[in-house]
Amino acid sequence: MNQKQKKLLIRILVAAVLFVPVYLISEGIVQVDLPRWAVFCLFLVPYLTVGYDILRKAALGVKNRKVFDECFLMTVATIGAIALGEYGEGVAVMLLYQVGELFQSVAVGKSRRSISALMDIRPDYANIEADDGSLEKVDPDEVDVGSIIVIQPGERVPIDGVVVEGTSALDTAALTGESRPSGVTVDDTVLSGSINLSGVLKVRTTAAFEESTASKILDLVENAAARKSKSETFISKFARVYTPIVCYSALALAVLPPLFLLITGAPMAGVWKDWLLRACTFLVISCPCAVVISVPLSFFAGLGGASSRGILIKGSNYLETLAGVTTVAFDKTGTITKGNFEVTAVHHSPFTEEKLLELAAHAECSSSHPISLSLQRAYQKPLDRTRVTDVEEISGHGITAKVDEHTVAVGNERLMNRLGIAFLPCHHVGTILHVAVDGAYAGHIVIRDQLKEHAREAMATLQRMGVKRTVMLTGDRKAVAEQVAKEVGITDYRAELLPQDKVAAVEALLADGRGLAFVGDGINDAPVLSRADIGIAMGALGSDAAIEAADVVLMDDDPLKIAQAMGIARKCLRIVKENIWFALGVKAVCLLLSALGLANMWLAIGADVGVMVLAVLNAIRCLIVRKI
Ligand code: ADP
Ligand code: MG
Repeated sequence: MNQKQKKLLIRILVAAVLFVPVYLISEGIVQVDLPRWAVFCLFLVPYLTVGYDILRKAALGVKNRKVFDECFLMTVATIGAIALGEYGEGVAVMLLYQVGELFQSVAVGKSRRSISALMDIRPDYANIEADDGSLEKVDPDEVDVGSIIVIQPGERVPIDGVVVEGTSALDTAALTGESRPSGVTVDDTVLSGSINLSGVLKVRTTAAFEESTASKILDLVENAAARKSKSETFISKFARVYTPIVCYSALALAVLPPLFLLITGAPMAGVWKDWLLRACTFLVISCPCAVVISVPLSFFAGLGGASSRGILIKGSNYLETLAGVTTVAFDKTGTITKGNFEVTAVHHSPFTEEKLLELAAHAECSSSHPISLSLQRAYQKPLDRTRVTDVEEISGHGITAKVDEHTVAVGNERLMNRLGIAFLPCHHVGTILHVAVDGAYAGHIVIRDQLKEHAREAMATLQRMGVKRTVMLTGDRKAVAEQVAKEVGITDYRAELLPQDKVAAVEALLADGRGLAFVGDGINDAPVLSRADIGIAMGALGSDAAIEAADVVLMDDDPLKIAQAMGIARKCLRIVKENIWFALGVKAVCLLLSALGLANMWLAIGADVGVMVLAVLNAIRCLIVRKI
């Protein structure tokens, strides 16, 4: 509990202690002869002790012309009760209302704290090695790009970089939700926010602190809560309309029935007081706090639960879209397949296999496309980047570059057609990279990708969850697309698409109906990600464009997380709906009882606090995410 909550608790306790004896006296349970004004004063003390801030807020609301809020309702109802001589009820309502407020503020604070603990990846310092070999702790903000920092075992990586010395295992659970440590050694990339488990690492930083992964993720998570969901704004709109209606209804309830009785000439003894009291009870019952509080709390908890599993959802509105997804479109490379191509054959080349790979790998040396990375890996020797100039990457085609004064082109049939180079077709199933050197055909390299471990299971899970259509969109050859689609159990595929064709394909799918998710690895998929109803970037840590364009970021590249994200979203929405109906239902019953004169304020406030406590507890369930 924080200071403010402790203060409120003390006020509640003091007021309760003061209230009980006065109540017993006023009810005649304890026989003490006090004049009426003294009883009134004795009730006023606990009332003001526990409720002065509510009264002040209500007065401020009236002054700022923002009447109709909960404080206003509570103030009118309790003052009304006291004015009618029901001192006990007035004080008790205020007391219980504050108990509810305290409970809610503790619960919200707790879930907020547990979310920031989950997201506790903000590094506090970076170690820089001084000239004499000693380590100096500096603010990570002050570390220039390209500096060497030292990360000792147990420390958090403060800034993204590349290992220059040392071997270690990293715990990336805070980033990806994956609890298995991953090994790193020289030349491997380390991401800020992960924890160094075993060895000392020297790292050359590749980004500034605020451009590093940890800072970006924190930004994203912090801003997510600010992006309101549709049904959340629905709730605040609802409160704005609902409260005035309730106030006027209460007024009508207080005035109209007695007027009617007056006109009909019925006996009027106690009638005015009776109906005024019913109107106050009605006000207390109608207070919408349970709904107003539990909806944002549910969404907030849902976002938190998701991020603990390495699923970053950029706003609560995306939870709603995600819950209603009926079609999922996938990129192939890096999304369904590992993007880890192996060279399986080299054909028809006047060069040696080795030389062809050397030229191709060098031409690809500055691209981050999975094909490029795989070729560089297949070449096995270190690349000499100074030999390469004039690199041009043509999206969906391939690459041209100058390597040692040779013009090298590496890409698919489309690239060869574009350059006007005759090529030999290949009968292998696999992705074919044609290579041309100085405008002449120099053979092709056949590369092959593997399915991701969980790809098939992911499709099955999605279908089980009621996703009607799964479509693969790829720039690769038809033969490869068909084979992959069959193997993982995707219902539909479109092959040989350029990035702009993918946008068109997504638009065609959108025309078929709402609820389209696109899942991509973020490399040249950014336009498609932003076009779909919901864009999911996968394994996207480090790809800025994807993190920008996507609505949901999966921090590791496990395709099962798509279904998990949808599951979280659905659970969250279900809980929100449960809470809304539960709260409104209980209120309807209480209203009915009070209209019939069967409910007093005690019951009303008890029901309200009870509903709120249950709704808040229910909302917190959103934090709990089962592993798939
Ligand atoms: P995907 O839809 O599978 O992610 P892309 O749109 O990234 O595929 O690329 C489509 C095709 O374009 C690849 O299958 C490959 O033939 C060719 N291509 C794209 N980038 C490169 C590259 N850097 N080097 C060679 N070929 C490439
Ligand atoms: Mg791609």
